[in-house]
Amino acid sequence: MPVWLSAFLIALVAASLVEYWAHRAMHSFLLKKKHVLHHKEGGAQGWFWEFVDYVVGACFLLPAGFIYSVEAGVGFAAGALAYAAFAAYSHQLQHERPELCFWMVRPVHQIHHGEQMWRHNFGIGVDVWDRVFGTYKKVEWVSPQPGSHSSLWQFFRIKWV
Ligand SMILES: [Zn+2]
Ligand SMILES: [Zn+2]
Repeated sequence: MPVWLSAFLIALVAASLVEYWAHRAMHSFLLKKKHVLHHKEGGAQGWFWEFVDYVVGACFLLPAGFIYSVEAGVGFAAGALAYAAFAAYSHQLQHERPELCFWMVRPVHQIHHGEQMWRHNFGIGVDVWDRVFGTYKKVEWVSPQPGSHSSLWQFFRIKWV
C-alpha cells in the first residue's frame, strides 16, 4: 500500500477518535458553554460551518503526517479533512433527517440530543468509539418517516451553509 494511502486511512481513524473525545470533553470542560447552548437550541449550523468548526478544532492534528514524510503529510491531511467533511455531514443529517443515517444501527447523535444525554453516545460520524469506550447507550428508536429512502436527492437536502 502506498504511504499516502496508509496515512489517509490512519487519519480517518485518528479523526474519528478525536471527534469522540472532543465531544466527550465538551460534556466536562471543553467549550462547555457553547456546547450547552447547542444542546438547548438543538439545531445545527449547516454543513459548511460545522466543517469549519471541526477543521479549526483539529488543526493541530492536520500536519502530523509531515513528521514522517511529505507524502504521508499530504495523505494524512487529506484523510483528516475528508473525515471532517463526513462528520459535518453526519452531524447536519442527524439534526435534520436522522432516519437517513443508514450507516449506523441508530443515529447515535440524534439520540444524544433527543434523550438529553450527558454521558452517552458521543459519536457523530460513527458509533464505534462509544462501543469501544463503553458509552454506547441503546434506546428504542423509531424512524420518524419510515420508507423515506426512495430518492437519493434527500441526502442532499440539508442545510449546507
Ligand atoms: Zn453533546
Ligand atoms: Zn449536535
